[in-house]
Amino acid sequence: VMASMAHLQKEKLLEELLGLQEKLAARENDELSLSLQLQGQVETLKEKVLEQAQEISRLRSELGGTDAEKHRDLLAAENERLRQEMKACEGELLELRRQQQAPCRDCSHLQENARLQEQLSQLQREAEETRAKLVELDLEVQQKTNRLAEVELRLKDSLAERAEEEERLSRRLRDSQETIASLKSQPQQIKYIIKTVEVESAKAKQALCETQSRNQYLQEQVGMQRQVLKEMEQQLQSSQKTEAQLRAQIMLYEAELERAHGQMLEEMQAMEEEKNRAIEEAFSRAQVEMKAVHENLAGVRTNLLTLQPALRTLTHDYNSLKRQVRDFPLLLQETLRSARAEISQAIEEVHSTNRELLRKYRRELQLRKKCHNELVRLKGNIRVFGRVRPITKEDGDGPEATNAVTFDTDDDAVLHLLHKGKQVSFELDKVFPPQASQEEVFQEVQALVTSCIDGYNVCIFAYGQTGAGKTYTMEGTAANPGINQRALQLLFSEVRGKAADWDYAITVSAAEIYNESLRDLLGKEPQEKLEIKLCPDGSGQLYVPGLTEFRVQSVEDINKVFEFGHVKRVTECTNLNEHSSRSHALLIITVRGLDRSTGLRTTGKLNLVDLAGSERVGRSGAEGSRLREAQHINKSLSALGDVIYALRSRQGHVPFRNSKLTYLLQDSLSGDSKTLMMVQVSPAEKNTSETLCSLKFAERVRSVELGPVSRKAELASWPSQEQLEGDLPGSAATPGRGHTSHSSGQLSSRSASIRRKLQTSG
Ligand code: ADP
Ligand code: MG
Repeated sequence: VMASMAHLQKEKLLEELLGLQEKLAARENDELSLSLQLQGQVETLKEKVLEQAQEISRLRSELGGTDAEKHRDLLAAENERLRQEMKACEGELLELRRQQQAPCRDCSHLQENARLQEQLSQLQREAEETRAKLVELDLEVQQKTNRLAEVELRLKDSLAERAEEEERLSRRLRDSQETIASLKSQPQQIKYIIKTVEVESAKAKQALCETQSRNQYLQEQVGMQRQVLKEMEQQLQSSQKTEAQLRAQIMLYEAELERAHGQMLEEMQAMEEEKNRAIEEAFSRAQVEMKAVHENLAGVRTNLLTLQPALRTLTHDYNSLKRQVRDFPLLLQETLRSARAEISQAIEEVHSTNRELLRKYRRELQLRKKCHNELVRLKGNIRVFGRVRPITKEDGDGPEATNAVTFDTDDDAVLHLLHKGKQVSFELDKVFPPQASQEEVFQEVQALVTSCIDGYNVCIFAYGQTGAGKTYTMEGTAANPGINQRALQLLFSEVRGKAADWDYAITVSAAEIYNESLRDLLGKEPQEKLEIKLCPDGSGQLYVPGLTEFRVQSVEDINKVFEFGHVKRVTECTNLNEHSSRSHALLIITVRGLDRSTGLRTTGKLNLVDLAGSERVGRSGAEGSRLREAQHINKSLSALGDVIYALRSRQGHVPFRNSKLTYLLQDSLSGDSKTLMMVQVSPAEKNTSETLCSLKFAERVRSVELGPVSRKAELASWPSQEQLEGDLPGSAATPGRGHTSHSSGQLSSRSASIRRKLQTSG
């Protein structure tokens, strides 16, 4: 089966192959016949193109001989003919002249001659005209030939166009042949190409038609040109006529011109003459003027001759001035330099004298300072002020209450006391009269208070009999505060002013010394007796263990502190006035400062002491406790006096330990501490003996002298209260008992107490 199948398939394939071969052969035949057809078509197209080319050449030959050319030829022939005619005429003319030159014998000859001459001139004229015409015709011929050339050019253009067309057609033919050739290779595209060829041959036919129509158009144009030529000839004739007319006119104009020219010449002649005359006149006038100018010139010359010397002197002056001006700056500089030198010298002198003066002044200043310091040293750091209270109601009225104290109007340090009909004068550092206000008193004190800020220790004591105004001066009243409050206020304001650099701490303590025992007025247990002890650090400083210190920062704080202390004192004591007059009240203000920039520390203490009454108890006949009180007061006051005396007289030993008060205030009394004793007195007549005692005390404190006197005084003890009573002013310097300075305080106090005992016992 397989074999038969394979055989069948082979047979089938062979049949298909045969069919295909037949188809191929048929297609080849088709293509051959098509190409033959196309070749035939191309052949016919070529023939057509040839025909067209022949047609074009024929048309060209037709166009060759134009009418214009014929006309030109005709004209040329005419021209030739006329020339020959003219030559013949000239020949005749010559003949006639020769005949004329021959001698004439006959009249008839003459006549004939004239006639002939006439004829000749006529002929000549005719010849002239003809010549002119000939020239014009020549011109016209020239124009025509130009136009003809134009037409020929156009014709050439159209011929070129035709040749282009031919060229184009032949190109297309070549293209079609090429396409046919390509068609042969590409049988499937052949049909299409044949179609396009057919279309293109139709186009060629159309182009032929176009060219024929164009030929037609050109022929028409040639006809038109001929018409134009004819018109132009007519115009030529008319222009010849107008030319003749114009010539006649020109002749006329020329005659006119000649006439005008003659006139003009005449006028010119006249003008020339006039000009000459004018010139002559001007010349004569100018000559006259010239003469005048010459005269002037001569005058000017003479002037010039006189002016020359003046000019010479002027130039001389000018030159000298110029020299001076040139030299002036130099001179000026010179003088300026010398002046400057002088001035600077003067300034230097003034400077040196100034320096000298300054030096002298400084020296003087130093001297003055030294003197001042010496003065201060002489005066000592202890001041004694006196204050007289006014007369009060308590003094009563009558002779006992009269004023016994008077003042010096010129010297505020002097006070006079009328005692038992005798006037005694005292001189202190300053005396405040009764009318002096608290403010005025504080003014004198405030320098001391502020020095406390600088690290000084200050003591202010109020001394005097009871009722003399001690408490008033120190504490004052609510409406009129005393030194205590004012001092604290001042300290606060000063501290505030220095707050930029310094830190300050102000503390306040209040204490009371009664019967030689120290009590804290601000402590919780006021009855407790405090002891004064030496600082364990070995600095020699004293301190009171258990003494309350209040830190105060404002005025309100102070008021609170005072109130507190006051209340304490009031509650503790049955009779405040009595008690206060027998005890010393101390207000201790400590100012500690720290300079923030340098780290420097300062400590200043301000001790404000309201002392116990200084009145002598002896007379009152006190006994028991009153007597002991009096003894204590006496002791402490005389101890204070001893200490101050020893300090002021610069003794080697100062008996601080003789009383609690002096012991407590030791560091505020010694060294460069400052002390003020405010001695209070009553001006009343009845108090004169106590006043006298107080003033004596004051004067003695003050009158302590340095030098030999003080050395002498060193030997003497401070006078006791009893002595004060007995002594009269002026006899204060009476030397006392010969105690050694070492034990003077103790001894004196002992002797005093013995004396007091004696006194009290009668
Ligand atoms: P002391 O404290 O010395 O015993 P005081 O200060 O208590 O004396 O004064 C006694 C009286 O005198 C008080 O009533 C006081 O007001 C008055 N006094 C004292 N000094 C003056 C003075 N300068 N001006 C007005 N009154 C004063
Ligand atoms: Mg008092």
